[in-house]
Amino acid sequence: MPLAPYAVYAAVSGGRKFGETPPVDRTEFQRDRDRIIHSSAFRRLEYKTQVFLNHEGDLFRTRLTHSLEVAQIARSIARKLRLNEDLVEAISLAHDLGHTPFGHAGQDALNECMKNYGGFEHNLQGLRVVDVLEDRYGAFDGLNLMFETREGILKRCSLENARTLGDVGTRFIERKQPTLEAQLTNLADEIAYSNHDIDDGLRSGLLDTKQLEQVDFYAYHRREVEVSYPGINSRRAIHETVRRMINAQVLDIISTAGERIQSACPASLEDVRKAVPLIAFSDTMRTEASSLKKFLHENLYRHYRVNRMSSKARRIVTELFDAFIAEPGMLPPDYLVSTGDDSAQARRIADYISGMTDRYAMREHQRLFDMTEG
Ligand code: MG
Repeated sequence: MPLAPYAVYAAVSGGRKFGETPPVDRTEFQRDRDRIIHSSAFRRLEYKTQVFLNHEGDLFRTRLTHSLEVAQIARSIARKLRLNEDLVEAISLAHDLGHTPFGHAGQDALNECMKNYGGFEHNLQGLRVVDVLEDRYGAFDGLNLMFETREGILKRCSLENARTLGDVGTRFIERKQPTLEAQLTNLADEIAYSNHDIDDGLRSGLLDTKQLEQVDFYAYHRREVEVSYPGINSRRAIHETVRRMINAQVLDIISTAGERIQSACPASLEDVRKAVPLIAFSDTMRTEASSLKKFLHENLYRHYRVNRMSSKARRIVTELFDAFIAEPGMLPPDYLVSTGDDSAQARRIADYISGMTDRYAMREHQRLFDMTEG
């Protein structure tokens, strides 16, 4: 099936910052996907978490398995809408590369530490990882990805930051939309995390199925499962319910986006950028998805056991930052800035800390603060 005229393809792409010979036997966006998979930031996703810490159990999602789930969901929809599946996969696999250890607690703490040095934001850091920090190629820093892949990684950004970013910042200033592939990945991310947090929440015992019955969308699919399989055991019932919820959301996007695309009738990528967001849930599904998110915020992300983890995480990140800013001589030499520029040094400390996995950050904290550790 050929790509739709409003999809991204190499001929209409903003291209790479450093010119390269076109790849042989694969597309430019397959090359991006391959570079992302071979990056060290990607491998670290295995030991970074969103809600549950990595050592709490082997069955919980990590950022790596989350990214794979996002790619799966986004690719299914992309194929149906004739969007660029390789680009969608590349953005999905890269979308969390800039995250600190310990999920949002880690990011909030690092942002607070960096407040006098320009702040810290995981979307911007993700871009920094692929543009600057990965050191694997002889000819350039970073991965030298295609413009649309980089743009997709930069999901959000303030106007102030957009002005400093050059090409990928422009759409925020001009108030234009990103590619449909980026819009799609964004929504696939929401579907993936809401649904897997139900699953992980139930498995951890922080949520119970009774509580979840408050969410109409869950309750509806749960009842359908009970009707189809009377007496089904609870593990299977949860999985059957969650997979139906994911499926319903995927089908909803395919039909809603199909209608929106039909009525906006974009003839090119440029038309997509000037249109309203075309990849969206229907109004009904938006309401369902929002009430699910609200439920998770109230009952899982603010559960006292999650709060305890978040509190420890904030302390670890803050203490690491404070120790390094007070004595940069304790940093591995690669992260030491010799020019005496405080802001540049703080940014390198943020690079170091944000690149850590959960367990590395805990070990490093022990090494710095426990006198019996070397
Ligand atoms: Mg994500």
